[in-house]
Amino acid sequence: MLKKCIVMILLLGSLCAQHPHRSLAQQRTYSPTDVQRLALYKKMETVTSIPWYYYAGVDQYERSIRLTSREKGKPTGVIGIYFSGLQWVGPLNPVLTDRNPQSIMLFGGVGLDGNNDGIANPDDDEDLLYSFAKKLMPYGFDKENVAIGLWNYYKRDKAVSMIMQNASVYKTYGTVALHDHSFVVPLHANYSYRDTWGARRGYGGRRIHEGTDIFADYGVPVKAASYGVVETKGWNRFGGWRIGIRDINNIYHYYAHLSSFHKDIQKGDIVKPGTIVGYVGSSGYGPPGTSGKFPPHLHYGMYRDNGYTEWAFDPYPSLKVWERQERLKK
Ligand SMILES: [Zn+2]
Repeated sequence: MLKKCIVMILLLGSLCAQHPHRSLAQQRTYSPTDVQRLALYKKMETVTSIPWYYYAGVDQYERSIRLTSREKGKPTGVIGIYFSGLQWVGPLNPVLTDRNPQSIMLFGGVGLDGNNDGIANPDDDEDLLYSFAKKLMPYGFDKENVAIGLWNYYKRDKAVSMIMQNASVYKTYGTVALHDHSFVVPLHANYSYRDTWGARRGYGGRRIHEGTDIFADYGVPVKAASYGVVETKGWNRFGGWRIGIRDINNIYHYYAHLSSFHKDIQKGDIVKPGTIVGYVGSSGYGPPGTSGKFPPHLHYGMYRDNGYTEWAFDPYPSLKVWERQERLKK
């Protein structure tokens, strides 16, 4: 019954809200996990006054980090926030499996009882989220104070900016059901690409080619693949006019050798799958404005962050999937 209510509220919400992208909103499907997560974030907002999208941003960041971490393991519930066993019970607690909120508090553990069942259980989503919320609460609930709270927790600027970017995307769309992707050039354009991962050198690429080259004519629109935030925009000696977008899965999408940017795209902008960010060109390999040293193409790269460092991975399989999905939609 509760779940039904939540679904109703979500549906009404998306109908009433001034949604910037109506057609996408109408297509959107909510998985049971999305519904559960959003309900937990909103409940925590009610309890703590910290807006739900900050919880969504943190949770998504932690989940993405765990994808790459062996020691942290996969989340067992719908919340992805991680505390180690010792963090939960307190570093001096002799009982590693302690679930008693009082003794955990005594030993300085982070574990709290968020749902008032008398147990501080790290496998309980509400306890987990509440325990994290308590870390943020002392700082306040507006944007700046949440950022300060996050910095004190992570001690890493990049973590804070990624979480704040996630939060701004969730706030803009009013939902966590943002799983769509788009292929990076229009399907009707004349383009070609193949798997060149690790090739000695791509056109205008780096020494080791970290990406996929999509050959297309000058001026073919280049589209954002995912929901995210424009993190970089401008000239790079190798990449030419290039744009970098961080998506909500903590993946950095790099589009290089553009002939120009879309006139409305600025650093800090929120984009959705299909947003035109620029146009295919052959810029790069010299001072700003250098062009034509190789055939026009889009160099597309994907980078993942594990909480400490960032590395490139092969975008070719993702491109193939998005291309196929988009073809099926038509
Ligand atoms: Zn390339």
